[in-house]
Parts: sequence; structure tokens; C-alpha cells
Amino acid sequence: MKALQIENLTKTYAGGFQALKGVSLSIEPGDFFALLGPNGAGKSTTIGILSSLVRKSSGSVHIFGIDIDVDFSAAKREIGIVPQEFNFSQFEKVEDIVVNQAGYYGIPKNQAKEKAKKYLTKLGLWDKRDQPSRNLSGGMKRRLMIARALVHEPRLLILDEPTAGVDIELRRSMWDFLKEINAAGTTIILTTHYLEEAESLCRNIAIINHGEIIQKTSVKGLLKQL
Ligand code: ADP
Ligand code: ADP
Repeated sequence: MKALQIENLTKTYAGGFQALKGVSLSIEPGDFFALLGPNGAGKSTTIGILSSLVRKSSGSVHIFGIDIDVDFSAAKREIGIVPQEFNFSQFEKVEDIVVNQAGYYGIPKNQAKEKAKKYLTKLGLWDKRDQPSRNLSGGMKRRLMIARALVHEPRLLILDEPTAGVDIELRRSMWDFLKEINAAGTTIILTTHYLEEAESLCRNIAIINHGEIIQKTSVKGLLKQL
């Protein structure tokens, strides 16, 4: 069974712009996969469809064998999404943001608190737990989004441009963290427009441009061509 299987995915936005022109991708469990492409290529649209923020026009998506058209809520339990934009309340406390996310998955409160502590600690945010999120720096907010996406311990973690605007030192520590959770078994997919990010982290890459996958390769294979 694939962690993610996308077949012939298309998206035409209202107004007629075709952002995805038949994207197919097949990602194995345990992979660390990059969807690499320039701005406007269709990366966020793809992620948006996986997180139900964007409605696909046609094509199919299976997440660990679950068809999102058949049982989206079951599919959603398998994935954690780290969107590009901060989308939590500025006033809510750091710990509550993570604990409340677990509530969407029906995780009991005491267990939610335990997981929130685990991931906030791993991401270096536990001492900020009582702060409203507006007090966090940009890098901390990004780590908070990762903790929130992991609280229900999904098998697939999807990050949309996770290190855009993050300084080099923090970027390295985020990379280390992602490598660690991938080594522990979580399948990871990230979008990026930095080749360096894809090659330092990922095993497999799909290159997307103008809504089409133009190449699929292993990172080793890609480096040989350069
Ligand atoms: P990427 O994440 O690779 O930068 P996006 O998926 O955000 O690319 O965008 C792909 C294309 O779709 C871009 O040309 C963008 O302008 C267009 N697009 C994105 N969202 C919308 C929308 N809501 N309505 C119309 N066009 C959109
Ligand atoms: P609900 O689960 O109540 O239907 P939504 O799906 O609308 O809520 O999600 C609420 C917010 O949480 C959205 O902004 C969405 O981007 C974010 N979100 C949804 N699922 C996840 C997830 N697995 N990980 C991180 N953020 C998520």
C-alpha cells in the first residue's frame, strides 16, 4: 500500500486558470519526498487538495489506501498538514493550540496533553506553553505548526515550504528534527523551491512546473545529472 497515491489530479480555479494539469504521484511508506518547483508551479494547490482547503476538479487521491472521496475524515487522521501560512489564533496559548487540535481527532484530553508536551518539548517550545502565540517569533510559530500537525501522530506529515523565511541556523535544526521523525517511521512530503533543501533531506523528488510533473527521480539520480 502506498502512503500517498495521486492519479491524474487536475484543478481549474474559478476564473478558468488551470493550476494542475493531471498530476500523478506515488509515494511509498517511509519515504522522505520533495515536491520541488518554482513559485506558481502548483505545489500549494496540491497540498490544499490533500488538506481539503482546495476542492479538486478531477482525479483521485488515496492516503494509505483510503480514497479521500469515500472517507475524507478517515484519510485526514493519517495526515498532519503544516500549511505555509500561520493559521492559528494570535491570542490562544501555545499549549492550547496543540491540545485543541488533538480534540479534532477525538483524542481524550489527558492523552492530548501528554502528546502536546512531548512534541512541544521536542520542538523546543515547552517553556513557551503559557504564552499566547502572538508572542512567538516566526521560527517558533513554524515549529508550533509542526507540533500541532504531529499531535495525533499521523503516518504521513506534509509540509508546505516549511523553511521559507527561516534563518539558516533554525533551518538546520528543523531539518534534523524532520530527519529524526522520518527515521522513526513517519512518511514525509514537503514542498520547496530550494534544490538544496530537497537534496539535503529527501530521498525522492518530483519536479513540478506549470501544473505538471516534469520529472520524478531519486535525489542521487538528480545529482548525477547536474
Ligand atoms: P506554488 O505553491 O507552487 O507556488 P500554487 O499552487 O500556489 O503554486 O499556485 C499555482 C497557480 O495557481 C498560480 O499561478 C496561482 O496564481 C494560481 N492560483 C492559486 N490559487 C488560486 C486561486 N484561488 N484562484 C485562482 N488562481 C489561483
Ligand atoms: P475541522 O477538522 O473542524 O473540519 P478544518 O479541517 O477546517 O477543521 O481545519 C481547521 C484548521 O486546522 C484549518 O485551518 C486547517 O488548515 C488546519 N488543519 C486541519 N487539519 C490539520 C492537520 N492535520 N494538521 C494541522 N493543521 C490542520
